[in-house]
Amino acid sequence: MCENEDVAHLRLDGYRNVYVRKRTLDLKIGNSALHLRVQLHMCIQGKDDDNDSNEESSEGEEMPSKPEVKVKEEKSRPKSSRSRQDSMNFDTSLPTTHSYLGDDLEEVRGRTIHDEESKITLPIIQLPGVVLVPGQTIPLHLFHQHTVAMLKGVVDTDKTFGIVAYRYSDDDNSHSMANFGTTAEMFSVKDETDDVTGLASIRIKAKGRQRFQILESRRSTTGVLIATVKILSERVLPDALEGARPPSHCKFCCNPLEQETVVKEAVDRHGNIIKRVSMINNRQIDHLTSAYYTWWPPWVYKMYDPESVVQLVKKELQKWNESYRPEIMPRNPIELSYWIAQNLPLDNDQKLRMLVIDNAIQRLRCAVSIVQKCSSLCCRECGNLIANKNEVFSLSAEGPLGAYVNPGGYVHETMTVYKAKNLTLIGRPSKEHSWFPGYAWTIINCRQCSFHMGWRFTATRKDLVPQKFFGITRSAVVPGIQNADDDEEEEWTPVM
Ligand SMILES: [Zn+2]
Repeated sequence: MCENEDVAHLRLDGYRNVYVRKRTLDLKIGNSALHLRVQLHMCIQGKDDDNDSNEESSEGEEMPSKPEVKVKEEKSRPKSSRSRQDSMNFDTSLPTTHSYLGDDLEEVRGRTIHDEESKITLPIIQLPGVVLVPGQTIPLHLFHQHTVAMLKGVVDTDKTFGIVAYRYSDDDNSHSMANFGTTAEMFSVKDETDDVTGLASIRIKAKGRQRFQILESRRSTTGVLIATVKILSERVLPDALEGARPPSHCKFCCNPLEQETVVKEAVDRHGNIIKRVSMINNRQIDHLTSAYYTWWPPWVYKMYDPESVVQLVKKELQKWNESYRPEIMPRNPIELSYWIAQNLPLDNDQKLRMLVIDNAIQRLRCAVSIVQKCSSLCCRECGNLIANKNEVFSLSAEGPLGAYVNPGGYVHETMTVYKAKNLTLIGRPSKEHSWFPGYAWTIINCRQCSFHMGWRFTATRKDLVPQKFFGITRSAVVPGIQNADDDEEEEWTPVM
């Protein structure tokens, strides 16, 4: 039990932290008597669970009379994130439905895949702090009248528009648009017109499809940005050892990416099954062995070998955090490279750099390089440590980082972490428009520079696990790069 000027902090069985106003109440602790009078609207914070039972006060204990509360720093505990992830009972498919957008969206069907290297004209939506990658879901809620009209037209044609990141420069108040973007294809849409104001708005769920480079852009007469873009091709590196591999080896080395468990049956002469055995379709010769017939040793080929790079990136991510389970990641190297680009807390420049790379192996090598160096998430403005990499977890089936839109139409790419520190809570928890059904959100700012960091989410039901977590907005943080002894750290760039 601890005390400060007017608040006492004690523990009740089953509850983590209880604050009470000091009054006179006889409370016996051992042989000594303590005078307190408990006020009934005491603030009880979070029921104990397996994860927090031994913990000192955790982040952001709210006091009833204070609108703004300092978030207390907490000790990180060496508890496995896998066991925490296992105890979670939240339905991870809920965030992917973006139910806060309403249940009246209509499905639209039909896909348009543009030829690689082809030049097409696309309407462009610029989003601050959002770099869409292929495969990523993006929700939009738009109010600009001409943009709404443009998108209604897009629904009737190929359902595809472009999303490009832009950024403000505080120095000269200008904003610059990235040269690269990704096509977004609508799969769910609803437009409506307000009866009173007559203003139109549109709600959309779309998926990132193809990368493009902007060749030229112009504003239409209605102010909508239209761009001529080149659809970028995905280069698949040839098998460097193909010419060196003896044909007799080929039937013994199967690609582990295609490795499967096969069920074999032993039957008698009447065809009746005697025994059923499941066998892994295993390779018998390392497919890099044939490197010995070349000038370079196998490890040189291994650096760019799809199978080896996929294994390495999965292993490094698991070391980083066990929430990045291999089973939730795509198996195909191209899909995996985009999944990682979406789910790593990269800053905009790093994410754009990944988007520009034209093959999966280099994207994955870039990811490995970042994962090996990154140790934490820090405030973009002041560098304050916000969360440790071990606290990242997936509350959504799509991974730890997803895009969500607020009622004002602002899209936030948000990363879920169990714990965060050096934060200030702003205002009261609200259930309205919550991206995670069952949780109420409270705004969090950086304690040092007051920059908006995201939200703390607290469960509105006692049976929900986790009881609380943080959603950190990607554009507000940068990966904290581990300090090494040498001075070249400042200019560190990922190896590809
Ligand atoms: Zn800060």
